[in-house]
Amino acid sequence: MKTLNDFNFENKKALIRVDFNVPLNENFEVTDSTRIVSAKPTIIKILEDGGSCILMSHLGRPKGRQDEFSLRHIAETVEEIIGVKVIFVDDCVGEKAEKAAANLQPGELLLLENLRFHKEEEAGDVAFAKQLSNLGDIYVNDAFGTAHRAHASTTIIAQFFEGKKCFGNLLAQEIESIKKVMETGEKPVLAILGGAKVSSKITIIENILDAVDHLIIGGGMAFTFVKAQGGKIGNSICEDDKMDLALDILKQAKQKGVQVHIPVDTIAADAFSNDANTQTVDINAIPDGWEGVDAGPKSIAQFHDVVMQCKTILWNGPLGVFEMESFANGTIELGNSIAEATANGAFSLVGGGDSVAAVKQFGFEEKVSYVSTGGGAMLESLEGKTLPGIAAILQ
Ligand code: AMP
Repeated sequence: MKTLNDFNFENKKALIRVDFNVPLNENFEVTDSTRIVSAKPTIIKILEDGGSCILMSHLGRPKGRQDEFSLRHIAETVEEIIGVKVIFVDDCVGEKAEKAAANLQPGELLLLENLRFHKEEEAGDVAFAKQLSNLGDIYVNDAFGTAHRAHASTTIIAQFFEGKKCFGNLLAQEIESIKKVMETGEKPVLAILGGAKVSSKITIIENILDAVDHLIIGGGMAFTFVKAQGGKIGNSICEDDKMDLALDILKQAKQKGVQVHIPVDTIAADAFSNDANTQTVDINAIPDGWEGVDAGPKSIAQFHDVVMQCKTILWNGPLGVFEMESFANGTIELGNSIAEATANGAFSLVGGGDSVAAVKQFGFEEKVSYVSTGGGAMLESLEGKTLPGIAAILQ
């Protein structure tokens, strides 16, 4: 696996695919700069080597050239975070971009206009990728968030940099973190899968059974498993057509020696509302008219014990309807347990969608080992797929 350390960037122009798809407010100010901060180590390493950086990214989903999606809006924030003046060019290919790239001196930073102003980007157009490739000497992919897309700048472009392409620090870290969970992590390995639907996580569960010793199934997903085993789940969220599959997963887990932990109790609410009446009940005896919305105290204690036993922990999906304050406790307590295990030396990876939002919202970001920057890319990796953006660097 080629990384930045395999190259000396002195007098080289690094063409870096970053993920600067950051949220902007109505005044076009960046409201969350995490993704820019995450790309900083790669950029700094190249500049310190004596190279220059050409940054390319998409922003939002523009239909052609639309000023509201211009990367010009983020240039100032990039400049502040990296601490180097940003030269902005209002296209990513063509004469202007080529001239700006040709004039770039060591230590300088060039930001290209939104790649998706050209429809060829998402189409994975080879000629467009070739045009982009003309701008730099070495191609660096540091955008995990788009690594599952075979777009021109994330995948197709790599073929024009034979022997001159590598992963940036961020992408290398993402790959390493997933590898720890799936292959090289210290045992016991635990995966915690929560969230709303079994259907969106089936492939992950099936793939992950070969890698883990323990599996916690929580959140709304758990009720399909509970009902499938004959439990009464009241109005709780359930996918009836996935009950056979749930039983099959439990069977597979047993065969593979994976210990599956399903909540034993739940906070039940009489409405899907923060102000609903609640009661704590056994998970398989939820009264009619009530629905399970959060993990109960016995389940929280049980999950705490499992988490504390494990040395490698993956967390994907909340344990309850954490967006409502009244039902966030299970998710927060799980975060606390993972933070404690991490402080005791376990490796913890949080990734894929809502658990990342929960971790940020409840302040666990600094207390876990790694928070993934890619939602869909993370989920596809856990499904065992080789992401096209990663494969293109390895080829
Ligand atoms: P996912 O995107 O699959 O990770 O699902 C996240 C969503 O699952 C969040 O919006 C949660 O509110 C929701 N969720 C978690 N637990 C429950 C539950 N017991 N009932 C309904 N929704 C839930």
